[in-house]
Amino acid sequence: MPLFKTLMVIGPGLIGSSILRRARSTGQLAERLIVMDKEPAVLKRIEELGLADSVTTEPAMAEEADCVVVSVPVRAIENVVRSLSPHLRPGTIITDVASVRGELDSSILSLLPHGVEYVPSHPMAGTEFSGPDAGFAELFENRWALLIPTPETAPWACGKMQNFWEFCGARVKFIKADEHDRICAMVSHLPHLLAFTICDTADNLSSEMRSAVLDYAASGFRDFTRIAASDPVMWRDIFTANRDVLLETLDRFLRDVQSMADAIRDGDDDAITEKIKRGRSIRRTLIQNKQA
Ligand code: NAP
Repeated sequence: MPLFKTLMVIGPGLIGSSILRRARSTGQLAERLIVMDKEPAVLKRIEELGLADSVTTEPAMAEEADCVVVSVPVRAIENVVRSLSPHLRPGTIITDVASVRGELDSSILSLLPHGVEYVPSHPMAGTEFSGPDAGFAELFENRWALLIPTPETAPWACGKMQNFWEFCGARVKFIKADEHDRICAMVSHLPHLLAFTICDTADNLSSEMRSAVLDYAASGFRDFTRIAASDPVMWRDIFTANRDVLLETLDRFLRDVQSMADAIRDGDDDAITEKIKRGRSIRRTLIQNKQA
């Protein structure tokens, strides 16, 4: 028996269409798939890919769903949930897959009718690509899916969403919202901020130098450009929604950059080597944990 009778996915981009592909390929997630997007062209593409039983631009179709996954950029989530709210039946589970919690959970809870269960979740998986063609069924395989229940979330709904992400191939961990935002600021938001900024710095060099930078980009710079290719709206929303925690993490990073700069300026070989060694050991740990 599939986990849900009818699953509705709103925003069939990288994350949403990966869930749909997984649902189609295993049959474990739901009997029926409804897809909603604001753009008819996106829905047409989803139909061509065979990833939905019904497509719609209308939130009213949410009344047919027993699970709704909202997979749109962070700042669009609240308005999408507001439009769905009058149509959600008691007993329906709603989740978003937002990369940051911030103030989101309290505003969503205030919009939901009694009896609708909100289970925020965040699959720690992604690529720099977006849109319905970017998804793939294995995206969540062996990745962490973080579940961030609110104080009001019923345990049965947490259990269902745990099954949901496990059926997607992920390992599930329950975590508190503030802890989530601190961890994600370090492992995801700050690295993206650095990647965008390094590319910006390269772009600001003189045109002669810039072409040289791009000609010889096959070194470390290339890895930053992959991250910097990510969707601008998505990352604008994440940075602003996690502003305070991200800025704190950035301050800490700047102190560490300063300490590396001091070591280089002073010719302190031991300090420089020690810092590089710590980076290498983190990389080895990620490989051991199958996260690299
Ligand atoms: P994406 O590929 O850009 O997909 C977003 C989808 O949402 C698009 O189909 C977009 O449609 C649609 N959309 C935007 N505004 C909408 C609205 N108001 N109503 C209905 N649909 C709307 O983005 P994604 O990478 O899948 O990210 C989606 C969510 O997952 C975000 O909240 C993000 O924080 C989270 N997340 C992302 C990653 C990652 O690495 N990418 C990882 C974990 C979680 P149009 O194309 O028509 O605008």
